[in-house]
Amino acid sequence: MNKLRKILLFTVTSLLLSITTRIAYGQGQFAGVELSIVPVAGNVYMVQRPGGGGNIGVQVGPEGVLLVDSLFAPLTDKLVAVVKQVTDEEIRFLINTHIHIDHVGGNENLAEMGVLIFAHDNTRLRFFEERSRFPRAGGSFAPQQPAAARPLITYNDTMSFHLNGEEVRAFLAPPAHTDGDSFVYFPESDVLHLGDVYRTTSYPIIDLYNGGTLRGTIAAMDQAIDIAGPETKIIPGHGLEVVGRDELVEFRDMILDIQGQVLRMIREGKKLDEVMAAQPTAAYDAEWTDDPGWGPEDFVPIVYYQLGGSGRLADR
Ligand SMILES: [Zn+2]
Repeated sequence: MNKLRKILLFTVTSLLLSITTRIAYGQGQFAGVELSIVPVAGNVYMVQRPGGGGNIGVQVGPEGVLLVDSLFAPLTDKLVAVVKQVTDEEIRFLINTHIHIDHVGGNENLAEMGVLIFAHDNTRLRFFEERSRFPRAGGSFAPQQPAAARPLITYNDTMSFHLNGEEVRAFLAPPAHTDGDSFVYFPESDVLHLGDVYRTTSYPIIDLYNGGTLRGTIAAMDQAIDIAGPETKIIPGHGLEVVGRDELVEFRDMILDIQGQVLRMIREGKKLDEVMAAQPTAAYDAEWTDDPGWGPEDFVPIVYYQLGGSGRLADR
């Protein structure tokens, strides 16, 4: 192996290690993180991490606490502590909306406390992969979670929890962010948690490594819009504000508009480079690029290839 190749290999290996370290083991990175808990509606609260991180749904009541997603492992103590600010009841159930480490990282810790973990069949299957791949940063990895982190109970369609005076429904959404996305609806509280299918900070992250699709993203947004009523509060997977039905419609329509533009260019025979240069997201970039890890340069190629676009100019 010549020297240049050795240096390159070392650089790539270091980079991969640093990404894995950052995602999976960043204990120090979480040292100063403060979580907050805010009421959403009815029995439902939301735990947030100012500055980023997944939003946790929390349903509380005399029959115990149900969580939607579990954040990163190093944040479990803080998660439990903020939940204690609003209830003395124990955390009994956890639903994972999908496989990503910022939504399942706390599973093992919570399972040790006796919490029962639920997820869709497809999400549990992803726990068996040797490494978990993520779409950000061009595809980064997290190591396999321990066996104790795996959901104990899975469903292939819908699961109901008859808890704290309402029938909480967790159900599979069309393959959008991943192929195991669950939505969780609290009908009496009138709150809908959409996991990472919907976020207020960026264009939709369609995780091709984990079965996400553009068509499913649009279908999943249609489904969420169907379920939501005029007063429904929506918890996004990421983003600090709770939104309503109107914001879902706006997000769906934005995706449809970008899809329409890209499809038109594909029919004109445009290659990816030309589509990128035409900036089909230009009208939306000011509002939808708060997340430095996911911009038009990530989203537009996925739209292009999902719609059947073929290749770059250089490939001609
Ligand atoms: Zn995610």
